[in-house]
Amino acid sequence: RALFMLLLIAFILLMRTFYQSRGPYRWQTGIVLLGSSIPWVANIYTESGLSAFGDLDLTPVAFSLMGLVIAYALLRYRLLDLVPIARSLIIEKMSDSVVVLDAQNRVVDMNPAARELTGFTDSFVGKYGRDIFAPWPELIASYRDANTAHAECRMDGHAPRYVDLQIDSIHDRRNRLLGRVIILRDITIRKQAEQELRRAHQDLQKQYAEIQQLEEKLREQAIRDSLTGLYNRRYVEDTLERELAKAARENYSVSLLLLDLDHFKLINDTYGHEAGDVVLKTLALLLQAETRKNDIICRYGGEEFLVIMSRASLEKARERAEGLRLLFRETSTQYEQLTLNCTFSAGLVSFPDFGTTVKGLFVVADQALYAAKAAGRNRIAIPDSRPD
Ligand code: GH3
Ligand code: MG
Ligand code: MG
Repeated sequence: RALFMLLLIAFILLMRTFYQSRGPYRWQTGIVLLGSSIPWVANIYTESGLSAFGDLDLTPVAFSLMGLVIAYALLRYRLLDLVPIARSLIIEKMSDSVVVLDAQNRVVDMNPAARELTGFTDSFVGKYGRDIFAPWPELIASYRDANTAHAECRMDGHAPRYVDLQIDSIHDRRNRLLGRVIILRDITIRKQAEQELRRAHQDLQKQYAEIQQLEEKLREQAIRDSLTGLYNRRYVEDTLERELAKAARENYSVSLLLLDLDHFKLINDTYGHEAGDVVLKTLALLLQAETRKNDIICRYGGEEFLVIMSRASLEKARERAEGLRLLFRETSTQYEQLTLNCTFSAGLVSFPDFGTTVKGLFVVADQALYAAKAAGRNRIAIPDSRPD
């Protein structure tokens, strides 16, 4: 009776487990319940006296039947295998490639993703890692040199691929190396996106540099004369304003040479406007060639030029102006078959002796230039009297 009670309690507990269990474990419990209830039913049937088999004890038959049910469940449905199946399913289905090597770097296991990545179709078990990964020496070197590694490497197959490579070593309890697990994650798409982004960034930087160059060019064009490349009048007037203020603060003189080509209209009228242009360029080149560090040269008007000589006294400036005049007089311009000669006249003034404002200085410089023309041209004139 005690045994009967014990079995009853066990059966009730199993029933409880069946009701409480969920998902795949429920039918496992069900099969165990079903199997274990067979001897009960057989026993009750025999003991009830209603047995069609008379006194024949059905217990051994019932136990055999129970064994058959459970064995069938074990073999057909892998009754106790649920967790290992789940684990191996994960490995089989995962998109990352997993390769297991033994201590001699022979392949022990490889999931479908790894087979797809490596393109290794034959049986891989027992093959050396170097055969499986033949096209990727970088990968072979990684596991040969180190037990554990984490790196990104490029695999040059028919289409180059990038993989995130993770190598972990497996050791036994005595810390002897059993093998390695290699996990490869295909990061080609990410890498390509990165490269694309880098390229776009470089293009953008190039465009930015071009824009900056263009801006610089525009800035230059805004302050330069297109025919001669010299500074234009607007730039010089602004600059001169600042230069005079600085000269006043630091107490130095600034000389201005305003020069105008002699009988230039004649050249235009005789040889054409283009010939005149070439003469203008000749003078511009000559002035540029003679430029000093503190000089600013400008095309002031049609055939008028201005040379600003900072930190040059009137006397020094006069010497230099004379030098320029003589040099230009000796310089001839080749235009087609023609040799053109020209001279200039100029008015020379200096800050602060002849004026302290841009406007005032230009008035006296212009007067001096007019005087030089009146006196016969091809000369430099300095005003006689200095304004008060
Ligand atoms: P002067 O000795 O009195 O200065 O006589 P000029 O002929 O040089 O003086 P004028 O002012 O009568 O003539 C200046 C000429 O310069 C008139 C104009 O056609 C010419 N000119 C102005 N700008 C340019 C230019 O960019 N190119 C050419 N070829 N000629 C120009
Ligand atoms: Mg002139
Ligand atoms: Mg003129």
